[in-house]
Amino acid sequence: MKIICIGRNYAKHIEELENEKPKNPVIFLKPDSAILAKKQPFFIPTFSNDVHYEVEILVKICKVGKYIDQKFAHKYYDEIGLGIDFTARDIQADCKEKGLPWEKAKAFDGSAVIGNFVTKESLGDLNSLNFTLQKNDQVVQNGNTNAMLWKIDELIAYVSQFFTLKKGDVLFTGTPAGVGKVTENDVLIGAIENQQFFSVKIK
Ligand code: ZN
Repeated sequence: MKIICIGRNYAKHIEELENEKPKNPVIFLKPDSAILAKKQPFFIPTFSNDVHYEVEILVKICKVGKYIDQKFAHKYYDEIGLGIDFTARDIQADCKEKGLPWEKAKAFDGSAVIGNFVTKESLGDLNSLNFTLQKNDQVVQNGNTNAMLWKIDELIAYVSQFFTLKKGDVLFTGTPAGVGKVTENDVLIGAIENQQFFSVKIK
């Protein structure tokens, strides 16, 4: 399976990192080795002093597709989840400055937290989902999918022009504002509409 991630999909997050608003979705990939094993802690890698959490709505692909039309995109996913796109912000800043790819900052071991999934029907309107990330009992990120620059179906149509989507692939749909640094002993808890989807301890 592969993990396809979207960058810069929420205006307020683009502002907080002082990035430009893209004309098209920003796409990058994580390998399957980036997945943090279930119930395992996240170890801050030795190569970074500034690892950030980014909570994101996840979409699980349920059948193979290429050049998917936006109006049929909903047929290609049946489950929604929540996860974290851990980002070594210091490494990413260096890559950006030099115009280099982001893999060292975004695709390292453990950088993809993939929480539980539920059927999309159980969540109701996917374009109006409230989701939060709590760090040590304090809400640090609070997003709603209605603020996405590109909605889930648009993203599926866009990314499937470049990559054949396969059953089991996971799409990370971008993070809202409020990203920040993790430190040892933090506990991160993600929820959609007050339902917990993951809990991760930082080591
Ligand atoms: Zn992200």
